[in-house]
Amino acid sequence: MNEEIHEVKCLVDNEPMLSDEGFYLQELSQPISNAVKADYSKAKITSFICAHHLLKYRVNHVDNLINADLKQSQKINRKLTRALRDDNYDIKDVNDSLQESLTFGQKVSDAVAKFGGSWPFIFIFIVLLIVWMVINGMALFGVHFDPYPYILLNLFLSCFSTIQAPIIMMSQNRAAERDRLDYENDFHVNLKSEHELRILHAKLDHLTQNQLPHDLEVEKLQLEILGEVRTELAKLREENSKLKDKLRQKEN
Ligand SMILES: [Zn+2]
Repeated sequence: MNEEIHEVKCLVDNEPMLSDEGFYLQELSQPISNAVKADYSKAKITSFICAHHLLKYRVNHVDNLINADLKQSQKINRKLTRALRDDNYDIKDVNDSLQESLTFGQKVSDAVAKFGGSWPFIFIFIVLLIVWMVINGMALFGVHFDPYPYILLNLFLSCFSTIQAPIIMMSQNRAAERDRLDYENDFHVNLKSEHELRILHAKLDHLTQNQLPHDLEVEKLQLEILGEVRTELAKLREENSKLKDKLRQKEN
C-alpha cells in the first residue's frame, strides 16, 4: 500500500482531498465496499471515498449485522418456545396411576407375592413342616392324624403350590405393567430432551459462528469510526488555534 499522502478525489462528490482522509475501496471490508459499489456503479476497487461519506455505509453495515443476528436469535427462540409449547405429554407418576387402578384381588396378590418371596416366609414354612412331622411322626400329645409318610401334608403342599404359582404370575404382570409405564415416560422425556438439545445446539452454533464474529466486527467498526472522530477533532482544534492566533495578531 502506498503510504505517502497525495491528493485524491472522493467518488461521492468529486471533492479533492488528501489520501489520509478516507479509504480506497480495496481497503474496506467486502460488505461495505459492495454497498458502496451498489450505490455508485462507476466505483472501482481503486476508487477513493472520504471518511465522512463512508460513515453512512459503516453505520448501515453495523445495523445490518445487528438486525440479522437479532432475527436469527428470534427465529431460534421461537422454535424453542414452540417445541416447549407443543410438548403436551404429561409425565405420569407411575406409582399413582398404578395404585389408582389396583383392584382388591391385585392388592392381595401383590401382598402374597411379597411375603411369599421373603426369608421370614421360608423360616416359618420350615418350622411348620418340622412341627407337623414331629407331632405326627412321634405321635406327641397322642396326635397322629397324618402318620409317616405324611400324605395329608403332601396334599396340602401340592394345593399350596398350585395356588401360589398364579398369584406370583399376577404380581409379575403388575411389575410388567409398571415397567411399560416407566418406558413410556422415559421415551417421551428422551424425545423431548433430544429435541431441545438440538435447538440449543443451533443456538450455540449461531452464537459462536455468527453473533460472536459479528460482535467483533461491530466493535472494530466502532473503533474505526471513533478514530475518524478523533482525527476530525484534532483538525478542528488545529484550525481553532490557528484562528485564535490570527485574531491575536489582528488585536496587536
Ligand atoms: Zn466524500
